[in-house]
Amino acid sequence: MSAPLHPGEWLGMLGGGQLGRMAVHAAQSLGYRVMVLEPDAHSPAGAAADEHLQAPYDDADALTQLAARCAAISTEFENVPAQVLERLGADRPVAPAAPAVAVCQDRAAEKAHFAKAGVPCAPHALLQSAADCAAVDVGLLPGILKTARMGYDGKGQRRVKNAAELAAAFAELGGVPCVLEQMLPLAAELSVIVARGRDGQMVTLPVQRNWHVGGILATTAVPASGIAPELQAEALRRAQALAEAFAYVGVLCVEFFVLDDGRLLANEMAPRPHNSGHYSIDACSHSQFELQVRAMAGLPLPAPRLHSPCFMLNLLGDLWFDAAGQQREPDWAAVLQLSGAHLHLYGKAEPRRARKMGHLTIACATEAQAREQALAATRILG
Ligand code: ADP
Ligand code: MG
Repeated sequence: MSAPLHPGEWLGMLGGGQLGRMAVHAAQSLGYRVMVLEPDAHSPAGAAADEHLQAPYDDADALTQLAARCAAISTEFENVPAQVLERLGADRPVAPAAPAVAVCQDRAAEKAHFAKAGVPCAPHALLQSAADCAAVDVGLLPGILKTARMGYDGKGQRRVKNAAELAAAFAELGGVPCVLEQMLPLAAELSVIVARGRDGQMVTLPVQRNWHVGGILATTAVPASGIAPELQAEALRRAQALAEAFAYVGVLCVEFFVLDDGRLLANEMAPRPHNSGHYSIDACSHSQFELQVRAMAGLPLPAPRLHSPCFMLNLLGDLWFDAAGQQREPDWAAVLQLSGAHLHLYGKAEPRRARKMGHLTIACATEAQAREQALAATRILG
């Protein structure tokens, strides 16, 4: 194993979004400098970076510069072309490595990885053509049709009740390879963040309980109250088994469903820090972003300790509009008056509906206080 990187050395980040921005903050706090590759002139991570390389993710000159300057490289979004990571990986340690990212980019490959690691997931079928749709096992209906690639925040998904709707939805999604999943009766949704070092050491964040609205994460609560401790322990074990099965290096998030009958099924993975782990900045001894930086830099991985029960509320662009559709600024002073409130705004200039503008973590001494303050925050934000 190579020696840890020294403070002052450069880390490279592909992608300029909020995940990159929070990783930049964590890296700088450990004394590293960060170069962000992002085509957009104004991006959350580009604004925080020590240097912003403004170029497309597959720009040959930019990749050469990134590899020349940075001692280790990571990505903040999974849809960066896997060949780009492969190319960078030839010169520099890249975490996560291209093959693991490639698996997480494709729902079919992801399902195969679940099977390889012995982790159960939803009954499903891979659909490549209209003929595959016609021949599908009707036991999978009603179901959710998901494009195999490029889906996020509920995008690239259609709920289908019968064979006719399935055929129409497949065509509507462009006839691209899709996965059809049986529609499951969800009792709860969980996620687990695991960090794995180059030496194979693994640590996990506490289990997160998530609520989605319209396919987008709305709220995360930690601890995951109402979920049996044995089930939480099982989720932690399975997330580690999935990381181990591709000798992962870096931070991996695994989303799980808990069904009405109590079964735990893996939903999907993200090869990076995850929205549901943002609470760790304010409520844990070490954040998911610090773990990502430590894994990149070859530093020891501490097991994060939750020091404050918390609720994380996503702040979508919708909050920047009043009932009449007029743009407004939410009342931050009132929100920050609440005890335990930590506001994170990502520096995005233009609010848009469903756009992630920031998040608010309410971390208190007790869960009851955190819940009460989170409810007060939602009332203020309207
Ligand atoms: P995304 O990449 O958009 O996060 P997901 O596969 O996680 O896609 O789906 C988004 C949300 O849709 C999930 O968090 C869950 O609430 C719901 N969902 C997804 N798949 C199923 C399913 N098979 N049964 C019931 N609900 C589902
Ligand atoms: Mg998801």
